[in-house]
Amino acid sequence: MTLSPFSATYAEARAKFLEAATVARAELQAWAHPERGPDGGELSTDVAWIGPVDAPAALVLVSGTHGVEGHCGSGAQVDWLRRQEWARLPEGVAALLIHAINPFGFAWSRRVTHENVDLNRNFVDFAAPLPENRAYTALADAVTPASWSREAQAEARGRLLAYARENGFPALVQAMSGGQYSHPDGIFYGGAGPTWSRRTLEAILTGRLAGAKSVCFLDFHTGLGPEGYAEQIITRGPGAPEYRRARDWFGAAVASVDAGESVSAKIAGDWLDAAPRLLPHAEVTGVALEYGTVETNQVLNALRADNWLHARSDPTGPEAAAIQAEMRAAFYVDTDMWRGMVLGQSLIATRQAVAGLSASLGGDR
Ligand SMILES: [Zn+2]
Repeated sequence: MTLSPFSATYAEARAKFLEAATVARAELQAWAHPERGPDGGELSTDVAWIGPVDAPAALVLVSGTHGVEGHCGSGAQVDWLRRQEWARLPEGVAALLIHAINPFGFAWSRRVTHENVDLNRNFVDFAAPLPENRAYTALADAVTPASWSREAQAEARGRLLAYARENGFPALVQAMSGGQYSHPDGIFYGGAGPTWSRRTLEAILTGRLAGAKSVCFLDFHTGLGPEGYAEQIITRGPGAPEYRRARDWFGAAVASVDAGESVSAKIAGDWLDAAPRLLPHAEVTGVALEYGTVETNQVLNALRADNWLHARSDPTGPEAAAIQAEMRAAFYVDTDMWRGMVLGQSLIATRQAVAGLSASLGGDR
């Protein structure tokens, strides 16, 4: 096992996380996933709890909401454990580390779950009418063409660029990444019901945080914004207490999706936005840390290639290795500079969160 807290594969990441959590004498729990990784290995979401069972406040670090983005979040979690940040937790504050909430996506270098669902479009009320995305429907054939030959790719790209010329590039990004509930074989699909990862996350949060009065979430993401910069994203706008607390704890760089401050498209169904409803007894604060990687175009191309591979071809076939590498490169910048930026900003955010939690209990900041 290498010294770096970051890992090249899901299996390596899991082993590093379990080892670091064991050293921290965390209470560990594994949630076995029904599928296997490409290497045939077991998949699970691993949960580490550090601190008193009935702690009134909890810092919650979540990795792998978007599968392959777990290379970043897992590295930050392992680093947090290895630096013994847990030994600095003030009285009344526990830590809950959720490793690879979408282990399938992490292992297969995909952003989606094994149901082809974007977990952050899945936390909607499926009994209510689902959001519509007509622009996606109009572009669906170009997003996921039947063939991935050079000619087919060029034709599909031509149609997407034509849409961008007519409506602007942000409109194309919104159409493609805003989420859709009509094409189960497409990208940014929100699902037809709660996925395994949603059900597991809900069970972990409601089970572990049943007695918590104050909870702070940091959810690790990659793929949007300037390389290495962590945008601190919250869905809710300036009118919401969650937004005001996030600004108070993390500073004025916190960006609201609803207020149009963020690099993220407007979406429905992200889990961080749903968390306060799951924990009505707690004051919930938190942000997604969105680390920039490469150009948005490159990210979208990788996502479409991955989508084509799984929807129209064979995920274990000859095209798989190159497309998986393309996905990994889009969501994990394999340089020391980028990794250093991830760890520095993560460490600041966790310390700000702990200070905020402590203050919310009436302690010193
Ligand atoms: Zn993400």
